[in-house]
Amino acid sequence: MNNFTEFKAFLSTPRHIFITTHFKPDADALGSSLGWAGYLKACGHHVSVVVPSDYPRFLNWMSGNENVIILSDKTKNHIENLLNQAELVCCLDFSGMGRINNLADLIIKADKPILLVDHHIEPTIKPLYDFWDVHAAATAELIFKLILLLDGKNKITKDIGEAIYAGIMTDTASFKHPCTTKYVHEVAGQLIDLGVNTSKVNHLVYDDSTEERLRFLGYMLSKKLVVLPEFRTAYFTVTDAELKQFHSQTGDTEGIVNYALSIEGIVFAAIIIDRGDTVKMSFRSVGDFPANLFSKNHFNGGGHKNAAGGHSFESFDKTLKKFLEILPTYQKELQETVF
Ligand code: 5GP
Ligand code: MN
Repeated sequence: MNNFTEFKAFLSTPRHIFITTHFKPDADALGSSLGWAGYLKACGHHVSVVVPSDYPRFLNWMSGNENVIILSDKTKNHIENLLNQAELVCCLDFSGMGRINNLADLIIKADKPILLVDHHIEPTIKPLYDFWDVHAAATAELIFKLILLLDGKNKITKDIGEAIYAGIMTDTASFKHPCTTKYVHEVAGQLIDLGVNTSKVNHLVYDDSTEERLRFLGYMLSKKLVVLPEFRTAYFTVTDAELKQFHSQTGDTEGIVNYALSIEGIVFAAIIIDRGDTVKMSFRSVGDFPANLFSKNHFNGGGHKNAAGGHSFESFDKTLKKFLEILPTYQKELQETVF
């Protein structure tokens, strides 16, 4: 951050601070938001955390979850008031206003100074204070680093640490992705020193399936997995009817795409989900095959090289057809991808 001294001085008196993160927050999004909120509150600031949509129930354990405001017709006025009062809007774990859906209009209208803390490519947000690093494994890693730069390590309680740890743990796929640097492990070590119970966080995030979610996963693996060896690609599709049949909740489809990537020889995986009004897609890859560029170029999306997402406003059938028509144009790249 170029103007770090100014930022530190800004935070030296109590401020009204508005924190937000992307649509359908994941553990990094919510963990970064609640970790940062916990720290700022401990410093005496007035803090609100506002998110553009609901999020999976396996994140509800995070400290501060009870005060998170979800944008809806009922909360819109209150959110506008909070934005009017705010002296700083913190945009965490997203790089473009397109990722916060209807909340974007309210934030743009309020026109307040922005702090961006993020690790996605090509940010289009123009922040006053910029803490962006595409090489960071998680936004939560950057939140930890920022708190340390602010000399705030003594304010990182076990609760704050566990929210931050959850973000790092999930965005690295439990310390598996290539972005898991020595520094990431060092941060995890420091969080353990601060009292974080890593095995508890792991259990809370990963061992929270309902019976129906597990049966849905079984159905997907046995009936919906398509493997295309010629493109070293495997994918799942999910229809609206199937989501209803299994009473799918927010978060129930998360992680399924990784099973497709775990097949020997497969370097690119996708899940295509019919959500009624839009078709949501998740992409995963290994090695140098850029899932984010694939998503950006064809499906209005983005993300990281090996984990990206996008969406399509065309019908589910047309979207799937388009995906299958595009694959052959990447055949050479897919065949040559090495880990
Ligand atoms: P997921 O597949 O888990 O939803 O997302 C994987 C990664 O891609 C995350 O880093 C997420 O922020 C990013 N991502 C997911 N959906 C979108 C999207 O619609 N647009 C952009 N730009 N990034 C996305
Ligand atoms: Mn992230």
